[in-house]
Amino acid sequence: MASPPAIPVVPGNLSGPRGLQPPEPLPPSRQLPELIRKKRDGGHLSEADIRGFVRAVVDGSAQGAQIGAMLMAIRLRGMDPEETAVLTQALARSGQKLEWPEAWHPHLVDKHSTGGVGDKVSLVLAPALAACGCKVPMISGRGLGHTGGTLDKLESIPGFNVVQSPEQMKLLLEQVGCCIVGQSEKLVPADGVLYAARDVTATVDSLPLVTASILSKKVVEGLSALIVDVKFGEAALFPDQEQARELARTLVGVGAALGLRVAAALTAMDSPLGRSVGHSLEVEEALLCLDGAGPPDLRELVTGLGGALLWLSGQAEAQARGAARVAAALDDGSARGRFQQMLAAQGVKPALARALCSGSPARRRQLLPGARDQEELRAPADGTVERIRALPLALVLHELGAGRSRAGEPLRLGVGAELLVAVGQRLRRGTPWLRVHRDGAALSGSQRRALQGALVLSDRAPFAAPSPLAELILPPGPAPEAAQVRTPGSVWTGADPRTAGPREPRACRTPPPRDAGRRAAAPRGGREGPGVAGPLSRLHRVRARASLAPPPPRDLR
Ligand code: URA
Repeated sequence: MASPPAIPVVPGNLSGPRGLQPPEPLPPSRQLPELIRKKRDGGHLSEADIRGFVRAVVDGSAQGAQIGAMLMAIRLRGMDPEETAVLTQALARSGQKLEWPEAWHPHLVDKHSTGGVGDKVSLVLAPALAACGCKVPMISGRGLGHTGGTLDKLESIPGFNVVQSPEQMKLLLEQVGCCIVGQSEKLVPADGVLYAARDVTATVDSLPLVTASILSKKVVEGLSALIVDVKFGEAALFPDQEQARELARTLVGVGAALGLRVAAALTAMDSPLGRSVGHSLEVEEALLCLDGAGPPDLRELVTGLGGALLWLSGQAEAQARGAARVAAALDDGSARGRFQQMLAAQGVKPALARALCSGSPARRRQLLPGARDQEELRAPADGTVERIRALPLALVLHELGAGRSRAGEPLRLGVGAELLVAVGQRLRRGTPWLRVHRDGAALSGSQRRALQGALVLSDRAPFAAPSPLAELILPPGPAPEAAQVRTPGSVWTGADPRTAGPREPRACRTPPPRDAGRRAAAPRGGREGPGVAGPLSRLHRVRARASLAPPPPRDLR
C-alpha cells in the first residue's frame, strides 16, 4: 500500500505553552482562565470575550489545555444563538474572506454535512453542480470522531492537494467551476485548531461548536446559497432526530443572522450511505456515482441536495427540476469530466486523473491505495437485512486505522469495508455480507462480534430500502410561491425513475425559489401540489423558528 500522505498541521498546539505573548491586547492570555471560568459557570460570553478567545487560539497564545477547557465548557454549558453567531463570525474573520467577480454571485453555492459514515456526497455533488453552471468553492473538513472527512477521502488520491490559496481557488472556479479545499493558515485558521482539538477532547457533539465550525467556513466563501446535510440516527453526531432538527434550525437561523442563505436537510444516518466505507473505497464509489451508476441512496442524496440548492439559489424553477439537472450531469458524464478537471487542477497527475475517471472499477482499485488483506463476514442466520448499523462498523474501522485518536495522526487510507448486501435484501445463513479491508492482523474476536452485531436481520419479507431524506428546513424569508411536498410513493428528488421505488417518504418540505419574494404578486401560501402531505402552515412554523429574532430562551448544547 502507498504510505498515507502527511496530514498538514494547522497552527495551534495542544501540547503546552507557546513562545512570547503577542502584542495584541485582546485578551492577554492571562485573562483566558477568566473567560473559561465564566463559561464553565454558565455565564454569557460577550463579543469581546469570544473574539479574544479566538484571537488567542490563532496567534498561539492560548495553551492547548486552555483551548480544551474552553471547548469543554462550551460543550457542557452551551451558547445562546447570539454567542454562536459571534463565535461563527470570529472564526470566519480569523482568516481571509474570499472575493469573487460580481457576476458569479448568483451561482456561488455549497453543501456541507454534519458528518456521517460512508458519506461521499461532496465528492460527487461539487463537480455535478459545476457541470450545472454553479461555482462551488467548497471548504471541507477532515474526519471528526467516528465520521469520515471529505479531505481525507480526497487525499487517498495520490497527489491531491487540499491546501489551495484564495488566488488558486479563484483560478479553480474559473477553470473548473469547483474546488474542494481545507481550511489553512489563510482560510478560517481558527476552525482548523478548534476542529482538531474537538476531535481529541470529546467535544465534537456540541451544537454551537458544530454550527460555528460549519458556518464559519461558509461565511468566508461569499455564497448565494448553502445546504447543510444534518444527519440523525445512531451514527450521527446528534442521533436524536429532534436534536438534529434543533441543530438544523440553528444553522439556518445563525446563517440568516449572518446574511447567509442556508437550508438544512435532515437525513438518516443509521446505516452507512452507499455500500463502501473507508477513504479510497469511498472514492471508488463516488466515481461509480459519477458514472451515472452506484447505490441508489447515494444518488438520491446527491440529486436531492443538489436540486434543493439549485432551487434555493434561484437557478432552477423547482427542486425536482434542479434534481433532474444534477441527475443528467451524472448520466451524461459532464459531472465526471469536472471531477477529472478538479483532480488535475488540484495536483493529481493528469494521466492518473484520466485513468481514474475513465477506467473500470477494477482499474480504479489498482490506482488507489489499498489495504494489505481482506476478510469476509458471513450472515449468522437466514433473514431480511433490516439495518446495517453504521456506528459499530465505523468504530471498528477507526480501530483499524481509518480514524484518528490524536490530532494530525496519519490515516490508513486503504482500510475500509464493502457492504456486500443491501438493506431490505433477503439473506441465507452463511452468505458473505461484509468485506473488511485491513492492514494489520486478522480481526480480533471482539471486532468480529461488534461487526456481526451491525447486521440486523428480521423475518420480514424483502422490502425497498427507505430514502435517507427526511425533511428540509428553510431559511426565513418570503412565503413559498409553490411549495412542493413529496407525496407517498414519490421520491424526494422526483428526478430519476431508477430511484423511484415504493419508498415511504418521511415528511419533507421543499423550498421556494430564491426570488419568490420578488415575484411580488405570488399569493402567500401559494399552490400546494396534489396529495400534499404537510400543510404550509407547518412550513411557516419551521421558518419562523429558524429565525434568530427573538432568540430562543435556552442554551444550545
Ligand atoms: N463539519 C464541520 O465542518 N464541523 C463540524 O463541527 C462538524 C461537521
